[in-house]
Amino acid sequence: MFDAMQMEVLFDAARDASHRAYAPYSAFPVGAAILTSSGTIYSGCNVENAAYPVGTCAEAGAIAAMVAQGEQQIAGIAIYGARANPCMPCGACRQRISEFSNPTTVVITQGHDGSLQQHPIAELLPHAFGPRQLASTL
Ligand SMILES: [Zn+2]
Repeated sequence: MFDAMQMEVLFDAARDASHRAYAPYSAFPVGAAILTSSGTIYSGCNVENAAYPVGTCAEAGAIAAMVAQGEQQIAGIAIYGARANPCMPCGACRQRISEFSNPTTVVITQGHDGSLQQHPIAELLPHAFGPRQLASTL
């Protein structure tokens, strides 16, 4: 679990990323920031497209940035949506986060009262499908 200072730093990075979101169609800018096990922060924002299904979530952008730099272990991911408290990850992003998580990985969001909250990914995506299921078939 993260302490209050760690949550604030990561959440600030997510909020900063949301300011660069490309969300002209939904007007729902979102930012995400990942802290990896190495201590590095990677951020992403949602990027919409005129062909709506092509758009990507902020979490996907942050994960792509992390993987592109050679890291694959999410310690925590903060998500900020200016128009939603809390701004929880969508189902697809819960699966994306789970792929690079361990039992201590947390998702940090801002609650209705403005306080930061953390949720273990296993609580948001219980009984997740993951690499282990594929390994048993190989
Ligand atoms: Zn998503």
